[in-house]
Amino acid sequence: MSARVLVVDDILPNVKLLEAKLASEYYDVLTATSGAEALEKVAADSPDIILLDVMMPGMDGFEVCQKIKQDPEHAHIPVVMVTALTDSTDRVRGLEAGADDFLSKPLNDTALMARVRSLVRLKMTVDEWRVRENTATQLGVSEDVGTVMNEPVEGARILVIEDQSYDSDKIIDALAQDEDLITLVTSGTEAMEKVVSEDFDLMIVSLNLENEDGLRLCSHLRSSEKARAIPILMVAADEDMSRIAHGLEIGAHDYILRPVDKNELLARARTQVRRKRFQQRLRSSYEVSLSMALTDALTGLYNRRYFDVHLQKLLQKNETSRKSLGLLMMDIDHFKQVNDTYGHAVGDEILKEFARRLQEKLRGFDMVARYGGEEFVAILPDVGENMAHAVAERLRRAIAETPFQCAVPEGELYVTASIGGTIVKSGISAEMQTTLKQADAALYKAKEAGRNSCFFHETGRLDPDEYKETKRLFLE
Ligand code: GH3
Ligand code: MG
Ligand code: MG
Repeated sequence: MSARVLVVDDILPNVKLLEAKLASEYYDVLTATSGAEALEKVAADSPDIILLDVMMPGMDGFEVCQKIKQDPEHAHIPVVMVTALTDSTDRVRGLEAGADDFLSKPLNDTALMARVRSLVRLKMTVDEWRVRENTATQLGVSEDVGTVMNEPVEGARILVIEDQSYDSDKIIDALAQDEDLITLVTSGTEAMEKVVSEDFDLMIVSLNLENEDGLRLCSHLRSSEKARAIPILMVAADEDMSRIAHGLEIGAHDYILRPVDKNELLARARTQVRRKRFQQRLRSSYEVSLSMALTDALTGLYNRRYFDVHLQKLLQKNETSRKSLGLLMMDIDHFKQVNDTYGHAVGDEILKEFARRLQEKLRGFDMVARYGGEEFVAILPDVGENMAHAVAERLRRAIAETPFQCAVPEGELYVTASIGGTIVKSGISAEMQTTLKQADAALYKAKEAGRNSCFFHETGRLDPDEYKETKRLFLE
């Protein structure tokens, strides 16, 4: 993976030094020597990570960072502030501007490479969700999810694993400002138990636990299905640098050094919480769009795209099955007249109620879909010919016998439908197109014969009198 790194510093030798270090690790390096140039490069080249000097004449690093993080196009690009400042108020200011991390000059190579690698990896994950989400937005099935900076930071559920009460007190005190819900534990065993039974937005893990290896715990947490999506913020000492790098390598997201500065801790926790919430929203929004892409918005039934795939699968399964499969195609009679006389809104009401009645009268494992305008299809797995016939008649009656309540002067409308069906016998390999055509041809015959009737491929017209209530018994 060759990621693109944008290095921004007003002092050219600094740029060159970083460029050389990164190039030797096979990163593609872009450079800028002012805030304005940095913003241009971001817009033109959309880098994977930005190393940003804080002190620059004109637009300083804070301002550049803020501009990037406010732009929905680029807010997801990780920004690492590079600074000679060690004052924690500056760090906090940077984190509040949306920076993902801070590195101090002179740069420690291990820390630099660990940060870059872990942030790039994180960006790749978010990128993947963004691409899917973007497709969904373009298809019109998803709302714009905004940027990570819009996420609230308050009320996060945070698991703290720390056995030094001096530091855990400080951590809890700092997080109190955001009214976070803190669960404090002092051992890995307790942590693993909590993670399984509760939901968390962030885990703060000490790398200096008295009786166990905090790094091993991080790795343990990473391999747990439930905990994998929860970010880890490590708390460590200066001399732990190589363990911190290892932690970032195995998937921890960030670290803070002792003595813990309350403001910095709060700012780092907020960054992680925001990011976790943003990713979660991207994901759930994508899942909603997925389901929307496969269902029909008006009736809530599956759509044709889903139906086609499903029928194909069932036909394959049918080759080895011992029970036959029924396919019904249903079309509302003279539906155009409903629209023309009462308007589209009434037509929509009828379609919804029509769909509801189909679902109500079918078994849970039968599958019904809206195939197009006022045309519906149902697949009935495991039915014999008699039962398929009885189901078709039952559906026809469920439509025709009870008028549809809707916004017309009379308050209700009588609606009928024509139904064409076919049976795919068990153990044979049937072509999907052939099967659909058989049902469609039967439907056509039902229309020709005067509508409000059921026709089956090879059987012809069903006689309604043969399918009265008694036949219901074995359908239920
Ligand atoms: P037939 O008995 O031969 O099926 O006649 P029909 O009028 O039902 O058939 P036709 O195919 O001529 O007309 C179907 C109508 O369904 C035309 C179209 O405007 C309407 N329609 C399709 N989709 C929708 C929809 O989502 N809402 C509404 N209200 N009407 C729809
Ligand atoms: Mg019709
Ligand atoms: Mg039609």
